This record gives sequence, structure tokens and C-alpha cells, in this order.
Amino acid sequence: MKQNLFVYNTLTRKKEEFKPLNAPHVGMYVCGPTVYSDVHMGNCRTYISFDLIFRYLQHLGYKVRYVRNVTDAGHLEGDADEGEDKITKKAKLEKLEPMEVVQQYTVGFREVMKTFNTLPPSIEPTATGHIIEQIEMVKGILDKGLAYEVDGSVYFDVEKYNSSQDYGVLSGRNLEDMLNNTRTLGGQDEKHGKLDFALWIKAKPEHLMKWPSPWSVGFPGWHLECSAMSHKYLGDQFDIHGGGLDLVPTHHTNEIAQNMACCGKNPARYWVHTNMLTVNGQKMSKSLGNSFLPHELFSGNNHILTKGYSPMMVRFFMLQAHYRSTLDFGNEAMEASEKGFKRLMNALSLLDGLKSSPATEVDIQPLIDRCYDAMNDDFNSPVLIAELFEASRIINSVHDSKLKIDQKNLDLLKNMMHTFVFDVLGLKDEQTENDDLPKIMDFIVDLRNEAKVNKDYATSDKIRNGLQQIGFQLKDGKEGTTWTKN
Ligand SMILES: [Zn+2]
Repeated sequence: MKQNLFVYNTLTRKKEEFKPLNAPHVGMYVCGPTVYSDVHMGNCRTYISFDLIFRYLQHLGYKVRYVRNVTDAGHLEGDADEGEDKITKKAKLEKLEPMEVVQQYTVGFREVMKTFNTLPPSIEPTATGHIIEQIEMVKGILDKGLAYEVDGSVYFDVEKYNSSQDYGVLSGRNLEDMLNNTRTLGGQDEKHGKLDFALWIKAKPEHLMKWPSPWSVGFPGWHLECSAMSHKYLGDQFDIHGGGLDLVPTHHTNEIAQNMACCGKNPARYWVHTNMLTVNGQKMSKSLGNSFLPHELFSGNNHILTKGYSPMMVRFFMLQAHYRSTLDFGNEAMEASEKGFKRLMNALSLLDGLKSSPATEVDIQPLIDRCYDAMNDDFNSPVLIAELFEASRIINSVHDSKLKIDQKNLDLLKNMMHTFVFDVLGLKDEQTENDDLPKIMDFIVDLRNEAKVNKDYATSDKIRNGLQQIGFQLKDGKEGTTWTKN
């Protein structure tokens, strides 16, 4: 292993040295999407952040089992214990089977994740595939006397649990504060206490997704699936549990309570949370009308965007903020980031052609050490990117013959850039991605020249301006027309 890694732990509210339970194995569980609509940008940020963590742990030599669930049942509207299931509601609206909704948005989610070049998790378990495990967990909690049944539904007894454990251990809030500040979340007439939450919910006749259980034909509470599936694939206790910061007060708090009640252990040693997205300083939300979907961000087809951005550019932009800071999507910030991304990619394209000198005026090892220092300091990607810009300056200076580098340092520089840009940050050069692009561009340039020959200037101007808008410049010279990409 390289230098020691420190991770901010929400549970202890400080950075702690990362010591896996069974090195070199690492168990990591991240709460996945509820597949009833297109994945939103906040989720994309969370999964890109955990992809960075997954990649870096693997780079350090750990064998990571990364489990990210797919919620395909049991998640009710408003995260409540009563009301309509998000997937069922969508299925009724679109006259589809719930599993058709699940399939459509699971496929869509995976496509977006691939577009952002995130690595697939080791296991992607679904809630519907683990009903038996969830029922077993409810039984375990009932056996410990920490849950109770009312008319076919089973609720977790928070106040009883809190008499021997700290229910607010993750959020840092005490029970009294929570009791005073909790809005009721459905099923209240059946619950003994205001904070109690459903483990199993008896299905109303109109509810489509339901299963037999010892208590009723019903379905599991939303928080239960993550407890049951993390336990199944990672054991009583594992290393990292992650998700968005919004999951801390309820979903993750309840997960800890369930696992503690059933299995006697806080399931994870390091609780890692990603911060939220804002748009021009405001929380991104559908109701404020300032949210956009990944494909709108790529095409620029949304009223708050001045243009589109490529997936790798968006990934780079997100990684330029630390995962625990809020990230503000503003057009100016994205345009500045785009310039930086291009600078980095241009430097990479020059790297292979650099010539070494017998002597060196630059020492790369301290720069490499600083890259590791950045990542070992709670996966600080913005500081890492600043060091990569420093490396880009060196590459440009060597290319311009303003700086000499020997073969040993050049090899270190190449290795460092490839490791951190491609393997750790998970970026790729989109310009070299499409080998057919030059052929397509030559074809378009020929079409334009034909239009010019035919004096159809409207068409030739339309082609030139259209290409300009998507970043291609045409230049007419004596030797013919050449094109460049911004
Ligand atoms: Zn979860």
C-alpha cells in the first residue's frame, strides 16, 4: 500500500485512518436508485463520487466488493410508510406492469452510468429479489423485542431501541430533539411512537407489488432492503457504507437501528456521504424548475443551460469539487471547467510525443507524492486535479523546449498522468474516441464545397455555422478547407 488513507466518517464526525476489517478485502455498500424515473443529477454525482472511491481503493491494491442496490419495490411517495409505491404509481399512469417500469429505468440508469464511465459495482441486488432475506430480518428484530405487529404491519420500536442504544448516533441528534421536530410519515395511528418506522407493510387491495409473509400479504419498508442486502453480501459488519447526505437523518439512521437490533453491530465502520447539488446557488429541485437531466446537460437542451457539455467534461466538473462540498452547477463555472478539461486532455495528447534530454530540470517524484497526498486526504479530487494542471504545465514547457526532462522523469510523468487521469479520476479522451470522425467531417466539408460550387450559399453557410455551434471551425485556404475542433 502507498501512504495512509484518511476518510471522513460521518459517524465520528472526523477524518480517520482507513483500516479495512479484512485487508486486502474491502466491503462497500452504496444506496442505489429507486427505478421509477430518469436518474437525476444529484444521484449521478453520488455515484460518480463513489466510483472515484472504488477506483482509488482498487488502485491502492484493495480487492473491493462494491454492492449497490436497485430499489424496485417498497419505496413509497414522500419516503413515507403509507401511500402509493413510487413504481406502482408510475406503472398505473403509463399502463405498464411495475416490472416494465423497473426494467425501463434500470436500463436507463445503467446507460447513464456507463456514459459517465463509472465502473459497474460487483453486485447490484434488487429489493424484489431479496424478500425472503427481508422477512428473516423482520423476524430477527421481532425476536429481540424491538419491533411490534399491528394488524399485519410490523413497526420498529425506536424509543425502546434507544433505551439501550443511541438511535441518533449517525446524525448526532438526540431522541428528544427528533421527537419534537419530526413530521409524521403515515401509518401514525398504528404506531406506538412518533419515530417508529415500518419494517413490513400490509398491502391495501390496490397495491400491485406484494408478497406473503407471517404477518400479512404485504411488502417490506424501504429502509429494510439495504440492511438485509448489505448483511447478505457483506456480513454483520463491513468497511464503507455510502450514499447522499440526505439519507443520514432517516434512511441510514434506520438502517443502523435495524442491523444493530437484528445482528448486534453497526453494519459499517465508515459512513461516507456526498453533498448535494445546487444550480446558481439554489437547491436543485423539480419544484423550483431548476433541475435538468443528464441528457439535457449533454445536449444543452434546457432553459437554464447556455450550451451542452460532454459526459467526460461533466464528470471532470463534478470531480473539481470535493464530494463533501456542495457543487454548484452554473454556466460560467462549467465553461471555466471545460477549458481546464481541454487543457488537461491537450497535455495528455502531447505527452507521448515528448523527447527526453540527457539532463533534467524537473523532478517528478514530489509531484506524484502530492497526488497521493491529495487522494489520501479523504479522496480530495480537486487538489489532485490542481496537481495534474501543474503536470500539464510541465508537459507544455517540455513540448515548447523551455524545460528539459530526462527519460526517468519522463517515464514517471507518463505513468502518473495515465494513472491519475484515466484509472483514478476515470476520465477518458473523448476526441480520440470516434475513429470515424475525420471521415464524417471530410464528407460534410465536401457537401459544403459542393453547395458553394452551385452558388447555394444559404446551405454552405448553414453547414459552417452549424458546425461552429458544436465546436468545429472550418478554414478555407488555397489547399482546400481544413477543420479543427475547439
Ligand atoms: Zn439504502
